Amino acid sequence: MISREIRLASRPTGEPSQENFELAKVNLPEPAEGQILVRNTWMSVDPYMRGRMDDAESYIPPFQIGAPLEGSAVGEVIASNDPGIPAGATVTHFLGWREHVLMDAADAVVIDTAIARPQDYLGALGTTGLTAYLAVTEIAPVKEGNIVFVSGAAGAVGSVAGQLARRFGAAKVIGSAGGPEKTRSLVEDFGFDVAIDYRTGALAEQLAEHAPEGVDVYVDNVGGDHLEAAIDALKVHGHAALVGMISGYNAPVPGPRNIYSAVTKRLTLRGVLVSDHLDRFPEYIGKAAGWLADGTLHTEETVVEGLENAPEAFFGVLRGANTGKMLVRL
Ligand code: NAP
Repeated sequence: MISREIRLASRPTGEPSQENFELAKVNLPEPAEGQILVRNTWMSVDPYMRGRMDDAESYIPPFQIGAPLEGSAVGEVIASNDPGIPAGATVTHFLGWREHVLMDAADAVVIDTAIARPQDYLGALGTTGLTAYLAVTEIAPVKEGNIVFVSGAAGAVGSVAGQLARRFGAAKVIGSAGGPEKTRSLVEDFGFDVAIDYRTGALAEQLAEHAPEGVDVYVDNVGGDHLEAAIDALKVHGHAALVGMISGYNAPVPGPRNIYSAVTKRLTLRGVLVSDHLDRFPEYIGKAAGWLADGTLHTEETVVEGLENAPEAFFGVLRGANTGKMLVRL
């Protein structure tokens, strides 16, 4: 069958643009033994993919020029040559950026669409949700009565992290995001106590105003000036979960000038990669599907239609066009 995929055409310098992507046709054969043919219905675009566009050593290999991009996706099995996954099953896997994929059944996971919508498995029940859960339970555990600050708070990880911080006992949850619509959503939709619009003034001053007593836990999705402001705001023995540093993905930003405060305040700044914890998915989904179903975990999505518009969705997630999870419907 004929399908379409998006390939890396060239490596960007700074911000990526359309010329870095190529939409190509492919001919897919019937599934061989142990394989399934999947029609992808939803795909995720994620900030970390920017790093994979560079030819640089990291925790995950770079995308190759001329090869299709990869990323989380959900799809329906339309043909199967594997006894474990029948045609008709809904699966999640890592071969997004294409309309159909012929793949080893062993690399796909069947998802339960009776407990949540397929696209939830790319957001609140996917890697961004699990990352948020790990951040506030294990990496920088939130305790009863804590004051918590989340940057990138209106995004996929941040919006879940703020809500879970509240669930696990935070007395005050402060979020930062760009623009009035996102700060409105933080308070009204996601239940944050305070929303800071980092574009309207000095972040450190706004944080000091809203948390004069200091912050116990910081969830960092942004790095740069946000991490610097958070280090100032953290209390002695405070904890930060270093989840991502999107402000430096297109071009490096200077490190926090106040990093010495991590010594004097005996801070714990701890990084996390969700890929180290994929075995936690059953436990996490077991809990979070219930929170979605009973409405105590609120989600938002920004949906872009069609594979050909996936690069635009990717540019959007890097510059803040999304509230909640950025998804492409295929
Ligand atoms: P997201 O937050 O849904 O989308 C990215 C958001 O970042 C944008 O909407 C934008 O929101 C904000 N942003 C972009 N440039 C910024 C800047 N210069 N300063 C401040 N904010 C900026 O994306 P996500 O998928 O949930 O990922 C959030 C972070 O977690 C990223 O750093 C990502 O790499 C990281 N992550 C890490 C792991 C892990 O395993 N460690 C897993 C998943 C994600 P505004 O409009 O508010 O600026």
